Amino acid sequence: MPQSSPNSIEDRLYVLQKRWERYVADGRFEQFIEFAVAVNSLAEYFNRLRLPGLVRLCEGLENAALARLGDDSTHPISQQDVLALQRQIDALAGAVASSRSSGTGRRTQEAAASVADIDWIKPRSVWLVAGMEKREMADALIRQLQFFGFKVGEHAWDDPDHADEKPLAVLFIPAQENATPEEIARISSVRAACPASQLIYLGVESAIEPIVALMRAGIDVTIPAEDQPAMVLNCILDLVQTKEQEQYRVLVVEDSRVAVALIQRTLAQHGIDTHAINDPGKLLNALESYKPDLVLMDMYMPRFNGVEATRVLRQMAAYSSLPIVYLSGESEVGMQVEALRLGGDQFLMKPFNPVLLAAVVKTRIERFREVRRSTRLDGLTGLFNHTAAKSRLKVLVDELSGLSGPYPADPSGSGELTVAMIDIDHFKSINDTYGHPVGDQVIRGLAWLLKGRLRSIDLIGRYGGEEFLVALPGVSAEKAIAVIDRIRRDFSGLPHAHPEGALYATFSAGVASYPVTQTATTMTEAADNALLQAKRLGRNRVEYSAGLHVVQAESDLDLS
Ligand code: GH3
Ligand code: MG
Ligand code: MG
Ligand code: MG
Repeated sequence: MPQSSPNSIEDRLYVLQKRWERYVADGRFEQFIEFAVAVNSLAEYFNRLRLPGLVRLCEGLENAALARLGDDSTHPISQQDVLALQRQIDALAGAVASSRSSGTGRRTQEAAASVADIDWIKPRSVWLVAGMEKREMADALIRQLQFFGFKVGEHAWDDPDHADEKPLAVLFIPAQENATPEEIARISSVRAACPASQLIYLGVESAIEPIVALMRAGIDVTIPAEDQPAMVLNCILDLVQTKEQEQYRVLVVEDSRVAVALIQRTLAQHGIDTHAINDPGKLLNALESYKPDLVLMDMYMPRFNGVEATRVLRQMAAYSSLPIVYLSGESEVGMQVEALRLGGDQFLMKPFNPVLLAAVVKTRIERFREVRRSTRLDGLTGLFNHTAAKSRLKVLVDELSGLSGPYPADPSGSGELTVAMIDIDHFKSINDTYGHPVGDQVIRGLAWLLKGRLRSIDLIGRYGGEEFLVALPGVSAEKAIAVIDRIRRDFSGLPHAHPEGALYATFSAGVASYPVTQTATTMTEAADNALLQAKRLGRNRVEYSAGLHVVQAESDLDLS
């Protein structure tokens, strides 16, 4: 076993390879299932780390494995199939190894394996492959990307040479709409050389055929001509953000202890948390305390059956859209249809196929969370909206004051939390002079800068039109002021493109901290007052609520 933290990419790959070797040696169906589960869980992990190239390789292997799943009677599979799968496994292992060696060096001190993997495997470098005809746009993009801390390397379309260090993303800017066969070939060769990089193609025509051709060549994202270059930054900044990652939670309502054990084992292999109850009478209490993302519902249980329990939930607003999947030995189609009509989302048969069960549970939860997310995020910036930001801040404060919460909000355990209220200066005049779309671009620019500079655990919300709320758990007021002031200084140097050139904007910020202020409401009020003070004192500055004036240090503090 590799000597790294448990559950690193290597460990997962090792498990997958071991299971495969065992299957090749013995050829039993259950061993093949174990192998398929390992592939699926690795694909899922790459997906969480946002490594699209590796996800693609892994999903290719998963599909190949599923196509050969069959049942007891079809195993062992043919020698030819074994060789085909072996080739895919080797390609995957090779791609992981080459992504590894291109990282910036391993950080062994990191406690959480997944965090270490992200930092380690994601170089902040971007390749740009642009035609001469698009020189100006390429230059503008390079300036913007550099501003956000990316290292940009330029490559010609006919440049066959791939440097050793693999980039986070490759941007292709063709000379004209619709790629030539040579360009398609070039994209394929970059895809092969950089399996873990995100490939982005700018300026595609909105038609199915050219987009399919590009995707076949290995492009991950195509951006229509009208939308660039704002979309490019969005895509790339998204890659360096870690998704809000709460473990998936499944409530299992099932009276058979054997079935519960099998379900829990399968879902645990996919990193899904479960809680089981054997009596549907306890359902409402369990939902209230466990707050699952999905309910796996047995059909036949004492007292009530699964359909009756589901009907009750669908009457209650809080649970009207919670995914409910039936798991039952009921094989009569009419009965299944009836169960779905009465509020279930899907019907799975017992005995269940573990790969299918995990896949159904995960996709249902992903969709459920996606919908929930879209009601919480602001459309222009992708940040938390006003309501969501306010309630997240309350959760953070409650956790610090020991009021509630299963998730530790304060990684340092210092008991500190600092918030900042940020407001763009003279924004009305930007709108009046350059128009609303340019104003929107300025708002987005600040959102990107905040996303790029703050940590994934920090709360960033769009609190109002050109007003942002930021909360930094575990960070003292002094440190937070320095961080925000550094961002303030950098924002004032960020060029915002408009038809006649570039404009520059500034912001003012007010900072307040826990435990000086004790509740979410008093913290935001204090930060608001400090913000007013910053405006009064001339704008483009950061003020602390205690009245402490912040000297705008010109020294180059390293706050990264
Ligand atoms: P101050 O320095 O005092 O903050 O001056 P200001 O001009 O920024 O003051 P104020 O907060 O009154 O102006 C905010 C303006 O932002 C008013 C509103 O028209 C504009 N605005 C609000 N939401 C949006 C938006 O989504 N897009 C654009 N372009 N403008 C917006
Ligand atoms: Mg039962
Ligand atoms: Mg304002
Ligand atoms: Mg303003």
